[in-house]
Amino acid sequence: RIVYVNGRFVPFEEATIPIMDRGFLFADGIYEVSAVLGGRLVDNAAHLARLDRSLGEIGIRNPYDAAEWTRLEEELVARNGLAEGLVYMEVTRGVAERDFAFPPEGTPPTVVMFTQAKTVAANPLAERGAKVITVEDLRWKRRDIKSVALLAQVLAKQQAAAAGVAEAWMHEDGLVTEGGSSTAFIITQDGRVVTRPLSTALLPGITRRAVMRLAEEHGLTVEERAFTVEEALGAAEAFFTSASAFVMPVIEIDGSRVGGGQPGPMTRRLRGLYLEMAAAAG
Ligand code: PLP
Repeated sequence: RIVYVNGRFVPFEEATIPIMDRGFLFADGIYEVSAVLGGRLVDNAAHLARLDRSLGEIGIRNPYDAAEWTRLEEELVARNGLAEGLVYMEVTRGVAERDFAFPPEGTPPTVVMFTQAKTVAANPLAERGAKVITVEDLRWKRRDIKSVALLAQVLAKQQAAAAGVAEAWMHEDGLVTEGGSSTAFIITQDGRVVTRPLSTALLPGITRRAVMRLAEEHGLTVEERAFTVEEALGAAEAFFTSASAFVMPVIEIDGSRVGGGQPGPMTRRLRGLYLEMAAAAG
């Protein structure tokens, strides 16, 4: 397994980060995850645009332009012979003596990339449908930034794992914000696709945007508004989206069945459309 660290492709076992890295000390960094299908990156330009925006929001210089990022990702995928899975990218504010304020001007950011082999298309969970639990959203107020400070999600997703379910849907003021590592959707009894509008309360999901576009292109009505856990429980269908799950049907929320406890027809259709798009565009 070959990984990328600060300009070099090295064997995983040889890759190290200094203990004074601000990613390690302060979670002072940004990450991105793109899917790989058929050896090709899925919707990667949008992921790189979000990476650039997140870095800008916290004042870390983006070390590469989109073309260079893409070249490095493609080389990493090729070196690992990765046909299907994920590319993980992280940029931190670099290595400096521990001090909360930014390090001296010119401190180079730390850049790390690795791949993970994973079945993303023929995922058996998508056939069965996923169960989720709901948990309070304990995160900070800038969730639009894809920060590596993920403690609230670690705790939420551990609760989900302990409950034997696939994801935790987080809520705040009675409204679902998003999944621990995914965007939450419901389909109303009259067939409208509903997801929360973008704001600082949630991450602007790249898969969310693609699925909304596909839904609209195929004549479905998409409604951007927040919904409650109660509304989700009474919905016709529910699902979540992410670069690694694509479109994942939800069949149970907090132990109560949604949509008869089976992946719903509209969710299946959206997953199919997304897979087609991912396979075609690469
Ligand atoms: N929301 C959160 C909190 C996430 O961590 C993620 C992905 O990891 C998503 C949503 C889904 O985003 P994307 O579709 O870009 O993977």
